[in-house]
Amino acid sequence: FIRLDRVSKAFGGVTVVDDLDLTIGRGEFVSLLGPSGSGKTTILMMLAGFESPTAGTVSLDGARIDRLPPHRRNMGVVFQSYALFPHRTVAENVAFPLRMRGMARPEVAGRVARALDMVQLGAFADRKPAQLSGGQQQRVALARALVFEPAVVLMDEPLGALDKQLREQMQLDIRDIHRRLGLTIVFVTHDQGEALTMSDRVAVFNKGRIEQIATPREIYDHPRTRFVAEFLGETN
Ligand code: ATP
Repeated sequence: FIRLDRVSKAFGGVTVVDDLDLTIGRGEFVSLLGPSGSGKTTILMMLAGFESPTAGTVSLDGARIDRLPPHRRNMGVVFQSYALFPHRTVAENVAFPLRMRGMARPEVAGRVARALDMVQLGAFADRKPAQLSGGQQQRVALARALVFEPAVVLMDEPLGALDKQLREQMQLDIRDIHRRLGLTIVFVTHDQGEALTMSDRVAVFNKGRIEQIATPREIYDHPRTRFVAEFLGETN
């Protein structure tokens, strides 16, 4: 469904993603796990269209997308920093991707209401982001990513700024939304536990390459390289 074929990315001569092949199935929840600087975010940016590969191709559902601008890729994006507009209300923030796509007002209102209900923020539509907790702000960012009913949602450390209890609640909520909507999710994290509990498959990154990609069980029971074993071992 999502396919990266021999994708490389270099910044100023330094290769950060190195000849990578990766295929993600429709409806799959795949985590990109690895230490800081291993290239996870760069891959997400190439999927989202904020960076273009130095070499290789990216395709979605059989069609190449690596030349398309972000708003034509049918992918929602959630960042760690929620990147909400501070002077706009919650509803206006969530409406933004629809306005960018030129959708008519009545339809925008209906979709925004549904997206806010999905993240249990229906009652907060008229507040400003600063009047919300961190977890609520992250839910707004999630609603904004879901509002145009994308096939794929890309998440870059979306729970990194939340405290432990909230993080665990959001992990459950994201899993639930994934299942209910049949979304394909690509989830970047450096938290082993988070990747192992949430994902259908985990890709372990090291220096721009995948060391192992497998189910959490398989990775946990049979780490294929020393790097994988040691990286997982750090929290155990
Ligand atoms: P983190 O968890 O810290 O975000 P990561 O695995 O997501 O790490 P990337 O953000 O993909 O790693 O970064 C990989 C390498 O590419 C890093 O060394 C980073 O400094 C470099 N890099 C990323 N974006 C750029 C850019 N726009 N210009 C120059 N170098 C960059």
